Amino acid sequence: MGGGTPGDHSLLTLPEILDFATMSDKVLDARSFRGLFLANGRLAGIVRRNLRHTSLELIYTTVLGLAVTAAGRDPAESFLRQGNRLLDQGRFPEAVAAYTRALQQNPKGGRVYYYRALANEMVDRQAAIVDWRQFAKSAASDSRLKEAVAQAQQRVQALEKMPALPDLLHPSRYVPKAGDYFQEVAGTSVGLLWTEFPVKVFADNPPKEWRRALHEALDTWMSVFPLQTVSARETANIVLSWAELPKQTLGMEGVLTEIRKEDDAVVSRRKESTIIFDNSHRWSEREMRATVLHELGHALGIRGHSDASRDLMFPQEVEIIEVTNMSLIAPGPSGSRSSGVSSTRINTKLTPRDVNTLIRLYNCPGPVVHLK
Ligand SMILES: [Zn+2]
Repeated sequence: MGGGTPGDHSLLTLPEILDFATMSDKVLDARSFRGLFLANGRLAGIVRRNLRHTSLELIYTTVLGLAVTAAGRDPAESFLRQGNRLLDQGRFPEAVAAYTRALQQNPKGGRVYYYRALANEMVDRQAAIVDWRQFAKSAASDSRLKEAVAQAQQRVQALEKMPALPDLLHPSRYVPKAGDYFQEVAGTSVGLLWTEFPVKVFADNPPKEWRRALHEALDTWMSVFPLQTVSARETANIVLSWAELPKQTLGMEGVLTEIRKEDDAVVSRRKESTIIFDNSHRWSEREMRATVLHELGHALGIRGHSDASRDLMFPQEVEIIEVTNMSLIAPGPSGSRSSGVSSTRINTKLTPRDVNTLIRLYNCPGPVVHLK
């Protein structure tokens, strides 16, 4: 336990206190402590009390008192922690402001550039690029940050290649209090987002009983995503069709991607998305509407599922999702296929969390990875 026992606290430095807090197990996780470090090291009382064992209360109090003193000694650290808390809450502009104050206290704070870059991806893309470069430069000689520097360089490349986004996907539309499940889907969605807008969708001869569900679902998505219906299959990015699917499968979504080399980077680009709905069974209006909404969510870029059961993109029990890679580098197609399982619920409502997730996917080239 690094710095000693709670009784022997005079030797603890701030990082050690935090180590200690983390190591004192789930009871005192680092996140509880983040709430302690607010502006100027002042305790503002936003402490999530998740103590589960009263025997630890004493330790908690001791560490708390120390943390305030230590944060007061190091305002840059205090602002960094404040920024991280705001970043986790999706309050990106405020996080940027906190990191900027940390840098004013300590202009050499390389780690702060890393986090401000992450926050800036949801505020100002050009500023994020500048921050990633600044981080890579300042951390270049630190062998412990080697992976983070490589990540910074990849992120600069990715950000530079990202298309200008229509207003509906602008980060200012993100609603912080709703949260998101970006971390759950960011890894699997990379390279599978659309780069030209509006995205065009064609419905191939929808059966009569599906039409109302179809129109409602399209209208819902159009209010939050640059999406347009077209009347010719050739011009469409997403094609909806109806066929007999395996038993108990309501819908399936497949995506064709093209992988090729561009400059020195391997680029994966989305070619087409196909959604097939099952027309061999009688489905309720609710099931049809939920399925069209959900499969469209995959087709628009959410290549994974939410972890909260009320979201539209919570896994459905009745679907197949599939990615087929058309590789122009190594011959031979490779595909992956997975069946959605395990849900007894079927959601018919798009939630602000679903929308937030999509906005973040289109602005941030990969998940948030905290520095070690
Ligand atoms: Zn799904």
